[in-house]
Amino acid sequence: MPRSGSCSGAFFVIRCSYQDLMIKRMIKIAGLQKMTLIDYPGKVAAIVFLAGCNFRCGYCHNSELVQPDGEKDFFSEQDFFNFLKKRKGLLDGVCITGGEPLCHEEKELAEFFKKIKGLGFLIKLDTNGYNFLTLKNLVAKKGLIDYIAMDVKVPLDKYGELTSLDGDFENIQKSIDLIMKSDVDYEFRTTILPKFHSGFEFEKLLCLIKEAKILYLQNFRNRKTLDEKYGKELAFKSGDLERMKELALKFVKKCEIRN
Ligand code: SF4
Repeated sequence: MPRSGSCSGAFFVIRCSYQDLMIKRMIKIAGLQKMTLIDYPGKVAAIVFLAGCNFRCGYCHNSELVQPDGEKDFFSEQDFFNFLKKRKGLLDGVCITGGEPLCHEEKELAEFFKKIKGLGFLIKLDTNGYNFLTLKNLVAKKGLIDYIAMDVKVPLDKYGELTSLDGDFENIQKSIDLIMKSDVDYEFRTTILPKFHSGFEFEKLLCLIKEAKILYLQNFRNRKTLDEKYGKELAFKSGDLERMKELALKFVKKCEIRN
């Protein structure tokens, strides 16, 4: 049961125990940013952070979302929707991010999204693209998702190394193709670092998203990484980024560098 609620600063915390959420199969809301002007292109939005991720990217900055511990407190859905009701007319949309939102059950996500849409907000979904089937089924529900931002992290044969997972990463390509063929607005984005994106490796990645509408490049930062080894990895220099952008423009229609 939700125990208490408070609302202050960029995040508010509504406490409910992990066990409550598991029993009720609730959406696990780990954080809320009340407003962003930059995460949903052209829109004023709130960001809701869902707990859990199926990847373990070495460079991840969100270890508390990726590996929520059993004692972690989550927001109650009810208080989240009470917050949203008060923001009608002030926000255009809600960014659903993580962790990896598509780790939640498809049915729960669809209901959660419908409730947000029912209040008149647009939905932007951030995803790593691994749970192709969930993505496909949500996209098939017309009008449920307005914008998708998918990470295209590394060439397919490097996903295992980055995420520490064995597995078939063909779903990444399937999700890319699905997004590009859908009528949902989208962006792809890549955090770049010399370890994975030097020379031909970057071209291999670009081949995955040939003819895509837009790719955002984000330079790697070696602060607070899930795997401490990545704390010693170097980032590209700004001149390298510009050269990579030029190369990307031979494969995609638009490419921007995000700070
Ligand atoms: S970077 Fe994203 S996909 Fe990778 S572990 Fe972190 S939250 Fe998951």
